[in-house]
Amino acid sequence: SQDDRQRLSPRPKVSVEKYLQPFQLSPETLQEVSARLRKDLLRGLGKHSHHKAPVKMLPTFVRATPDGTEKGDFLALDLGGTNFRVLHVRVEEEAQKVQICAIPQEMMLGTGEQLFDHIATCLGDFLESHNLKGQTLPLGFTFSFPCEQLEIDKSILIRWTKGFNCSGVEGKDVVQLLKEAIHRRGDYHIGSVAMVNDTVGTMMSCGYKDQSCEIGMIIGTGTNACYMEEIKNVKRIEGKDGRMCINTEWGGFGDDGCLDDILTEFDVEVDKTSINPGVHIFEKMISGMYLGEIVRLVLVKMTKDKLLFKGQISEALGTPGRFETKFISEIEDGLENAKKILTELGLDWDLVDASVVRLVCDTISSRSAYLCAAALATLVNRIRNNRKLGHLKTTVGVDGTVYRKHPTSKLQKAVRLLAPQCDITFLVSEDGSGTGAAMVTAVAQSSACVTAS
Ligand code: BGC
Ligand code: MG
Repeated sequence: SQDDRQRLSPRPKVSVEKYLQPFQLSPETLQEVSARLRKDLLRGLGKHSHHKAPVKMLPTFVRATPDGTEKGDFLALDLGGTNFRVLHVRVEEEAQKVQICAIPQEMMLGTGEQLFDHIATCLGDFLESHNLKGQTLPLGFTFSFPCEQLEIDKSILIRWTKGFNCSGVEGKDVVQLLKEAIHRRGDYHIGSVAMVNDTVGTMMSCGYKDQSCEIGMIIGTGTNACYMEEIKNVKRIEGKDGRMCINTEWGGFGDDGCLDDILTEFDVEVDKTSINPGVHIFEKMISGMYLGEIVRLVLVKMTKDKLLFKGQISEALGTPGRFETKFISEIEDGLENAKKILTELGLDWDLVDASVVRLVCDTISSRSAYLCAAALATLVNRIRNNRKLGHLKTTVGVDGTVYRKHPTSKLQKAVRLLAPQCDITFLVSEDGSGTGAAMVTAVAQSSACVTAS
């Protein structure tokens, strides 16, 4: 009852701290994380070391950021974030047509053929309903998974991440699979295809507005970043001049065990029960697919140890996945939200419970922000060193639900601390996966012309 709730049963502060302390990373630890990533970037770029590198540093064949004059009419597909979307993008116009299609969970774990047939159907329906079926438009395909890109339109899936695990796609050219699915239908055509990681799309869409944008970062369902690297440092690519955008796939940082000393028992558990154990360890400490589950595991443990909810775990709290990542930002927004969510989860809470839960949420989302900051600091420091600059001023294009929904001051402050000679502007992408993919298609077409002439 309400009376019961107001009657506080104080919790010893030391025992609450005992659970949270392993999540609290000191500035020195973050510096160390950043230094380890610096070494891993080099391993990923190396000609012989890249095969075994946990941070894959994938060439994207994007050699230039936009100059702001790009134009054109494009289709875009966006797979691998919160929603699967089909878009029609006119680069010089703000308005674009978008259609969101659900991908049922069974399909994420089904066969690749089913998945690509579904994508081709959604695209077909979209073309039909917008009277575009007679046209042959170039298509930007934002595919937010690690791919070994051989050309802008040839891209081999290395592995699925996040919630996807479709059979028969790993090791295959994803563009080819899409074209085959469209061909199976036979009722419409598409033009040239450009394959884009979502980080690259984000960098390119922000780069259209701000030409000093040379980094794209996603903190959403998964996490990752790309940046413009000097081609002479990309040892697997021929040529010495110019730059190429590198998709770091920093989510894989730690897959060789190099972050084991900062993992908590809860991180280990989240990894073990995920659909891809041992893979994307860094991502599992940071991104939306996992944060809610980390919080849930901490709350379960604290309840079992009688620190919360009078020792009573509700059925919902005991169920994997039931504590959603979006609850974290809602709870951080205010104690009233915390109370509402705890009630909905069937928990018998008092005011101290609610504020302890809020502290847990805050601790875990702060760790996510700090780890991202450490990784981002590594990239900006690298760009500054590459160019032998005393001071670097640069823009980072950002997207993702976790970034958008949480206060970004902690992340920004930590990057400033870890990269003091860099002055960073954060630009939230308006629609990286649509406009950005179109932009890559546009820039690819214009640089193809330059190469040919
Ligand atoms: C994928 C990346 C992607 C990131 C953000 C990760 O799981 O491996 O390719 O950029 O999620 O969507
Ligand atoms: Mg997205």
